[in-house]
Amino acid sequence: MKKRTFLKTTGAIIAGSVLSPLTFCTNPEEKMEEKAVEAIRKNWAGNLEYHAKLFHEPANIETVQAIIKESQKIRALGSKHCFNHIADSNFAQISSRSFNKLISIDSAKMTATIGAGAKYGEVVEELHNQGYAIHNLASLPHITIGGAIATSTHGSGIKLGNLGAPVIGMKFVNGKGEIVNLSVEDDAETLNGVITHLGAFGLITELTLKIEPAFDVRQDIYLSLPVANLLENFNEIMGAGYSVSLFTDYQTDTVNQVWIKSRMDQGGFESGSEFYGAIPADRNVHPIIEISAENCTEQMGNPGPWYDRLPHFKMNFTPSNGVELQAEYFVPLEHGAEAYQEISKLKDLIKPYLMISEIRTIAANEQWMSPFYKQDSVAFHFTLEQDWEGVKGILPEIEKALTPFNVKPHWGKMFTLEPSVLQSRYANLNKFKEFVAEHDPEGKFRNEFMEKYLYS
Ligand SMILES: Cc1cc2nc3c(=O)[nH]c(=O)nc-3n(C[C@H](O)[C@H](O)[C@H](O)COP(=O)(O)OP(=O)(O)OC[C@H]3O[C@@H](n4cnc5c(N)ncnc54)[C@H](O)[C@@H]3O)c2cc1C
Repeated sequence: MKKRTFLKTTGAIIAGSVLSPLTFCTNPEEKMEEKAVEAIRKNWAGNLEYHAKLFHEPANIETVQAIIKESQKIRALGSKHCFNHIADSNFAQISSRSFNKLISIDSAKMTATIGAGAKYGEVVEELHNQGYAIHNLASLPHITIGGAIATSTHGSGIKLGNLGAPVIGMKFVNGKGEIVNLSVEDDAETLNGVITHLGAFGLITELTLKIEPAFDVRQDIYLSLPVANLLENFNEIMGAGYSVSLFTDYQTDTVNQVWIKSRMDQGGFESGSEFYGAIPADRNVHPIIEISAENCTEQMGNPGPWYDRLPHFKMNFTPSNGVELQAEYFVPLEHGAEAYQEISKLKDLIKPYLMISEIRTIAANEQWMSPFYKQDSVAFHFTLEQDWEGVKGILPEIEKALTPFNVKPHWGKMFTLEPSVLQSRYANLNKFKEFVAEHDPEGKFRNEFMEKYLYS
């Protein structure tokens, strides 16, 4: 019998980005009732408390299987960076944090197999040191790979897919406690279909990703881009680098900041004294200009490794603001300029709650539950005050303004769209549900969020 490790913690508040397990339930033979803990546990932003009474952090896949078999209801938890209740459970949560290593690299096939509980920041340097890179990263490296692909997490890049795009293999323990391997060789359509997995059918333990030779990136920041120039040249500006982000508050006739990340092996960005009327920053800046840039990755055109330039924020520093809410909406790329104008009309309404908005692009994919399914997209992200009472008043207005473009929200952020509307935007919802039904016939992984948005 394996040694039981049981930590009982009461009243602990964990709001940081490092996952501190409160209860390790490594022995599946324990009776579930014995393991209840009274602990307040919050997500990264601290805006919500999880309801799960049990928390498992199994050390190996056999224990994952046993825990899932024994559980009636359970939900996977990553690094807790979602703002809504997608990762919550009224019963138990199970973490894949013990599966956190770069397991192997196949240099002939150019693939890397990585534990799904690894945070990007924990494996990217090792990948780089061995001469390899992942195509893109989110704004922060603090999130787990399994949790990121769950919600179709993305960076920016007019030709770059979301973080799930390089996935070519997935190993998970399904709701029946079985180990399942999906690979692009054996079943590309299904694998691609379920990469945006929403935590719906089991605990993912390993992912195999396509990799490429390591590359260097430089970041060039420009300030005060005239909106008129953006509207006239939307795709050219968003495509001016390998990955381009705009930061704005919609309050003036200029966009506050343009961040251009370019690959040195593709010639690098040739900086000049202006960019579509915007002027070069003369120092490193934070997207929220008042905040010190020390948390941000190096800018000013200084080249550096891909993993230290593609995210906006450094691994060992707080990303973004910290105390905040986030919402993000996606529309087809061809409507980027129009959508910008529609949001600008709401500038007075959103001003009291908006810290900063980020605009990015994402290439189309084949993932059934991804907002980018067969759709090159533009993303309008909002970093908002942590005031849900106020924010829930403005989100419906933004959603209404973007309705003509069939707006879809980020699965891991705040939104108020009706479930029926959301469901109508996912043509392959039934295919996804069939896959879930096959692997989790008892609905063990179905939580209130899933009930509401997928099954109501
Ligand atoms: C400061 C900040 C910056 C952000 N920047 C970006 C950004 O640049 N781009 C972007 O798109 N999003 C961004 N997000 C949103 C965030 O990255 C995503 O929502 C992501 O899903 C969080 O991953 P996580 O590891 O924290 O997972 P969690 O939030 O813990 O869980 C997310 C989902 O994944 C499931 N899950 C987690 N691990 C597993 C597993 N091993 N097996 C099965 N299911 C699992 C959970 O059940 C849940 O449904 C940001 C969030 C914050 C707080």
